[in-house]
Amino acid sequence: MRLDKLLANMGYGSRKDVKALIKKKQVTVNGEIVKNTAFQLDPEKDTTAVHGEVVEYRKHIYVMMNKPQGYVSATVDDRDRTVIDLLPSKYQVFNPFPAGRLDKDTEGLLLITSDGELAHQLTSPRKDIEKTYYAKVRGRMTEEDKQSFTDGIVLDDGYQAKPAVLTIMQRGELSEVEITVTEGKYHQVKRMVEAAGKKVIFLKRIRMGTLTLDSALQTGEYRELTVSEVEMLQ
Ligand code: URA
Repeated sequence: MRLDKLLANMGYGSRKDVKALIKKKQVTVNGEIVKNTAFQLDPEKDTTAVHGEVVEYRKHIYVMMNKPQGYVSATVDDRDRTVIDLLPSKYQVFNPFPAGRLDKDTEGLLLITSDGELAHQLTSPRKDIEKTYYAKVRGRMTEEDKQSFTDGIVLDDGYQAKPAVLTIMQRGELSEVEITVTEGKYHQVKRMVEAAGKKVIFLKRIRMGTLTLDSALQTGEYRELTVSEVEMLQ
């Protein structure tokens, strides 16, 4: 990797800024001053320092976002704002993307990363990763609904959903539920509730595998995953 690219990616400023740093002899690689901005190094093996402080190299970023409504889970979109637009440039340089999708009007836990391998593990249909959603539902959710979710409720197109867990927290004209599924078909949760004759009016993902939405994050906020959160996902 080029030295200027490494420093820009690790947050030391724009390419222009880091070139200036290098020219001013502020950067060393393995203890030697390097003045060539295009200097090639192996960031996993070589030690780079700026002003004498070692640059901590990270290959990937892992960001937990509490996705707000009105944003699409994509990297680019012709019409809508994307969740990536919410991130500052220090993360954008990693070319991150959302691992999995939430509908535009769904809130909650979204992992945004540059780690394609981990994203694949989390979203592959063969991995059966559990995802838990909190939902407000118009209509009374019943014990029979619980059973149909357990058995695998049949969706509008005839597809039988995999067994899911329905927990009813509030039952009434407006119900509050948690639904845990292991798949991610198009509008999965909304269609499951619809198949039970009710309608989701608010949906928020609160868990994905071992990763739980940090309750300190307001909608639209994000934070990096801790080392142990990343390890547990792998
Ligand atoms: N199920 C849905 O219906 N929508 C989502 O955004 C996620 C799961």
